[in-house]
Amino acid sequence: MSIKENLHHIKSTLPEHVTLVAVSKTKPVSDLLEAYNAGQRIFGENKIQEMATKYEALPKDISWHMIGHVQKNKVKYMASFVSLIHGVESLKLLEEINKQALKHHRNINCLLQIKIASEDSKFGMTPEDASILLQSKSFLELKNIRVLGLMGMATFTDDENKIKDEFLLLKHTFDTLKPMESFNFKPEIISMGMSGDYQLAIASGSTMIRVGSSIFGERNYSI
Ligand SMILES: *Cc1c(COP(=O)(O)O)cnc(C)c1O
Repeated sequence: MSIKENLHHIKSTLPEHVTLVAVSKTKPVSDLLEAYNAGQRIFGENKIQEMATKYEALPKDISWHMIGHVQKNKVKYMASFVSLIHGVESLKLLEEINKQALKHHRNINCLLQIKIASEDSKFGMTPEDASILLQSKSFLELKNIRVLGLMGMATFTDDENKIKDEFLLLKHTFDTLKPMESFNFKPEIISMGMSGDYQLAIASGSTMIRVGSSIFGERNYSI
């Protein structure tokens, strides 16, 4: 099936409250343009440099989401245009994002990444760390960031019960943190679910799914 057909197929199955991020990492600009022409306006990338290059090449009404691990010294390369940074997991990184946002006279939207998987390879904060961060004085001094919710990645496994438990943990964490709402914590997004598990994620409370290979096909990292 074509990119356009894949997109339409996935979109036709999504409830209205769920936002689709088309994960286009490693894919050529021509593939993104095909998705754009099929109506897609939100794209996710996991490397800042690659996202910046694609941003330059593509129409300016696209929303760019950074879904990968963010190094502090690279925030400046996306600060002028990024619309949501999914993988924030420290106050230090939030401070750098705030500093760069201020330079560009804008607010930058972020999600806190919570470690829900049992694998060591996955990044993220514990629910307790997130709770402490959101209530800290240092956080409330960051006027140019908006934390709009949480992001999580489930363990890479065939065990659906395990994946579901991890998604429910993220949903539960969101519900627990929600009362801590403040001027820069406006909880509305739960980013969870990828090609293999987005239906399960939606059933567990996801409001934003990040889907790559089911739209663009398998990625080839060898080229
Ligand atoms: C690559 C990636 C995705 C998309 O994965 P697919 O299985 O291709 O849908 C989603 N989220 C993150 C954080 C990713 O790095």
